[in-house]
Amino acid sequence: MQLNARFYETYYFCNVINNVLNDSFTYAVELNDFYGDGRVFSLIDKFPKQSVFHSFITFVVETIYSENSNKIDFDNFDYRSSGLLPIEKAFEYHGIKYQLFKEHLKELCSLKDVFIEDAYYDWLLASQYYEDLITQTVEEVFYLLFLNRELLLNFNQIMADSLEMQASDVSVHVHLNDLLTTRCKNKRCHIPQWAKRAVYFRDRGRCVLCDKDLSGKLNINNLENYDHMVALANYGFNDVTNLQLLCKECNQNTKSAGVGSTSNSYQGWY
Ligand SMILES: [Zn+2]
Repeated sequence: MQLNARFYETYYFCNVINNVLNDSFTYAVELNDFYGDGRVFSLIDKFPKQSVFHSFITFVVETIYSENSNKIDFDNFDYRSSGLLPIEKAFEYHGIKYQLFKEHLKELCSLKDVFIEDAYYDWLLASQYYEDLITQTVEEVFYLLFLNRELLLNFNQIMADSLEMQASDVSVHVHLNDLLTTRCKNKRCHIPQWAKRAVYFRDRGRCVLCDKDLSGKLNINNLENYDHMVALANYGFNDVTNLQLLCKECNQNTKSAGVGSTSNSYQGWY
């Protein structure tokens, strides 16, 4: 997939996600809105291309846009003199075609009967341009953060903890028999080729722990292993963001250690 990235506020969103994941205790209430009260079960799947991490980025981005909208002073909003709204600036930057909110207001027959705040949310939430903005932003954030294995390990550990915590709620997940074991762990399944390729290219065909070349070009004995950073046995997910490339030896070592691990080692650009 080709991504035409503009990087508008993308690093800001990355930073928020990093902060939330690094301090999940402080953000427990907000995180609960993502995976709590049985919601974690709706995220169980076999390697969805729209990964669990995509869903999480979408959740964070939508929350931030919604908080920003709440800051608009609708009581004193004058559509004749107002400049571009923050969300309209984002549309402009991304080159997304949209209707100006003031144009939308003009179209409403009588402004006397219009609650501007309601009109704003009608204008925004049902629109294709808002959906396009969310999709574009999520793809850009994912593009940047997919490189950061430690952050992904952290995310996948939080998700696994959430699944383990809700595992006793048997009634909720009876319909997930194909995906979950009786102990509520994700069943092992085939890793699709696109997921392997994504991880192989990200990790540059090398074991992320010992840096061994696994391309088969320099040493034909080194075989690639796609490792679940948080093991399925520890409630890890079948998600592309939970995979990393390891050599056979490192894969066996991490399995016997039983805890999720990765490295902060990356090959420089030059
Ligand atoms: Zn290795």
